[in-house]
Amino acid sequence: MGRITLEGVAKRFGEAEVIPPLDLDIPDGSFCVFVGPSGCGKSTLLRLIAGLEDTSAGRILIDGQDATRVPPAKRGLAMVFQSYALYPHMSVRANIAFPLRMAGMAREERDRRVEEAARVLNLTPYLDRRPGQLSGGQRQRVAIGRAIVREPKAFLFDEPLSNLDAALRVGMRIEITELHERLRTTMIYVTHDQVEAMTMADRIVVLNAGKIEQVGSPLELYREPRNRFVAGFIGSPR
Ligand code: ADP
Ligand code: MG
Repeated sequence: MGRITLEGVAKRFGEAEVIPPLDLDIPDGSFCVFVGPSGCGKSTLLRLIAGLEDTSAGRILIDGQDATRVPPAKRGLAMVFQSYALYPHMSVRANIAFPLRMAGMAREERDRRVEEAARVLNLTPYLDRRPGQLSGGQRQRVAIGRAIVREPKAFLFDEPLSNLDAALRVGMRIEITELHERLRTTMIYVTHDQVEAMTMADRIVVLNAGKIEQVGSPLELYREPRNRFVAGFIGSPR
């Protein structure tokens, strides 16, 4: 299960209201993309859901349970960071196992989960290598593996492909979409890239200056943009 509901969630930094109160329901199993221009509050919203920032107002529910004051490690969500967050001196196996080792999980269960994640991500032949011996795409898969082993209710991605070159980015988009099809776990994916949003999402949340302009499927946003901002941003003919 991985339904995430925001009720009147707001965030201010000092005087600045970066996210005015908003409501959002992300159904279990969906692939939800937050898209909008740089500085519109995408990362802040994701960090509020992850618990890495405290809300200024409102409630965050995970599977109907109030998680607003639950610390990040106890929310059952996994944030996927860019691949440069890997430890260069550790093997792929140790990198993927790292969050489980920190949580004090027994070796046997840890190994089982790492092998399973490696299988899903086609990383089995590379488990004993170091990140420096891998391609950019393989490194990004290791970063995703680190999230998979935690068996989260939802994966949270913040522009995970922005440090990959254009060709690799296309391949990784397909891999992440396939991973979602295989796992059917809720994914929330932040990007400023309209193409990424339109090709990966089953539900897109268009943000502008912290406000939700529209929520819908790629087709709905394309055919029925609610306003000029959405039309312009999505590249719809209207
Ligand atoms: P995005 O991810 O869409 O580019 P962010 O969520 O990073 O946008 O930022 C939204 C706004 O909040 C920006 O104006 C940014 O400067 C501001 N902001 C983000 N984090 C902080 C912070 N820790 N303190 C003050 N302002 C912040
Ligand atoms: Mg950001």
